[in-house]
Amino acid sequence: MATFPDTPMFRGPNRPQRVEAEILNLEYEGAIPQAIRGAFYRCGPDPLFPPRAGTDIGINGDGFVSQFLFGDGHVDFRHRFVRTDKFLAERKARKALFGSYRNPFTDDPSVAGVDRTTANTALMWYDHRLYALKEDGLPHEIDPFTLATLGKFDFGGAMRMPMVTAHPKIDPVTGELLFYGFECAGLATPDTAFAIGAPDGTLRHELWFQPPYGAMIHDFAITRNYAIFPIMPTTADIDRMRAGGDHWAWDPSLPTWLGILPRGGTAEDIRYFRGPARWSFHTMNAYEEGSLIHLDTTAAPTNAFFPNIDGSRPNPGEGDFYLTRWTCDLASNDDSFTERRLFDRPSDFYDVDPTVVGRPYRFGFMAVKAKDRPANTIGAPHPFNALGKIDVTSGEAMLWYAGPESAVQEPVFVRRGDDAPEGDGYLLAVVNRLATGTSELVILDTARIEAGPVARIHVPLHLRMAFHGMFLPDTELERARVLNAKGKAA
Ligand code: FE
Repeated sequence: MATFPDTPMFRGPNRPQRVEAEILNLEYEGAIPQAIRGAFYRCGPDPLFPPRAGTDIGINGDGFVSQFLFGDGHVDFRHRFVRTDKFLAERKARKALFGSYRNPFTDDPSVAGVDRTTANTALMWYDHRLYALKEDGLPHEIDPFTLATLGKFDFGGAMRMPMVTAHPKIDPVTGELLFYGFECAGLATPDTAFAIGAPDGTLRHELWFQPPYGAMIHDFAITRNYAIFPIMPTTADIDRMRAGGDHWAWDPSLPTWLGILPRGGTAEDIRYFRGPARWSFHTMNAYEEGSLIHLDTTAAPTNAFFPNIDGSRPNPGEGDFYLTRWTCDLASNDDSFTERRLFDRPSDFYDVDPTVVGRPYRFGFMAVKAKDRPANTIGAPHPFNALGKIDVTSGEAMLWYAGPESAVQEPVFVRRGDDAPEGDGYLLAVVNRLATGTSELVILDTARIEAGPVARIHVPLHLRMAFHGMFLPDTELERARVLNAKGKAA
């Protein structure tokens, strides 16, 4: 096939982009705040070639990293694919060799045993290095200035787990990196691993355990003393994969389990709490209150991304995510968790102030579907079309609607300064302007989200939907430049 399929996953905001780019001095309107000194990065999927399987789901594209580098009154843009083994093999062949999402049984025999990871989901800054992440493989180190791919990372061979989540957490007090992997013993295995990286780049702890059943664990959460694993019934089946079927399917006959693991504990220390079948991609935050553990997360009654376990297709209209609080009581003998909706519009792609990760907090940031406002996204499903801030203690929210024929991508929070109160600063997010095939990076002041952007930076390109981004202050970038130069000289 020489063209991409005409399906929603390849239309509108999901239209393949397939470029690498460098643009100096982007045009912009408004004033770029003093706090925005450094670089904003985003990571996402963009298929290099039409799918081998005929069609595909949107999360299977090749990983890219974009960078907006803020200098003295100018903003430069760079955009490159991650040089994964998959990317290199397919570019050489000038066609897709890898088949459907996370199913190696659908691949061209010439790539048997080749690393399938796409490094297409999120970025991590750890020990002064930048990594592109995807939950089925090792982190790929990326040069934070040129975006060149530098290689895979496994703590110099010290780490046993063969894959790292795209959603690690940094503890704001200890500076530790907390992360995990799942299906660690092979496709469709329940083997899950939790690990802690010390701030100096060494592996401090690695624990393998088996939850009640094997599941897709896209995100987790931490508190001061615990790591929290949502085990939700999106499950894998090796026989289904062998028959060419999907890696994942939705099985609502199973409960949701929340596994609460003491951060330094053993597999025997995990306590599980039970609730109704739910699907969620992203957590917002978690914290302890006495014996209670609160986890704020997206929750939907079904997983509309994958087929149902009986082979039927989900109704996409039932898959909307709502910000929800799940609470477990460690002092109770009851093994169930409670559920309470925190916000009444669909939302996802959360961020919080990095100083309150795993601690009691007030403010969360999110992409929102304002379904009462025009969307018109050219044949694609209703996109996130607003950016929001919620006070989770009161439920009060502020929204900025991005306009018709527009899709917003994940907002990233940047603090106004070192002494700023929680949640005080800016949100950075890419907005797709679908009618013109262009994009904007908008900067919103979190004190006045509804007032709209304080700056709009224009990108004369369609920027395919990324998943997750991060902001690095120039002090961190400068530190990395010095350490990197020393490393090369040594
Ligand atoms: Fe994610």
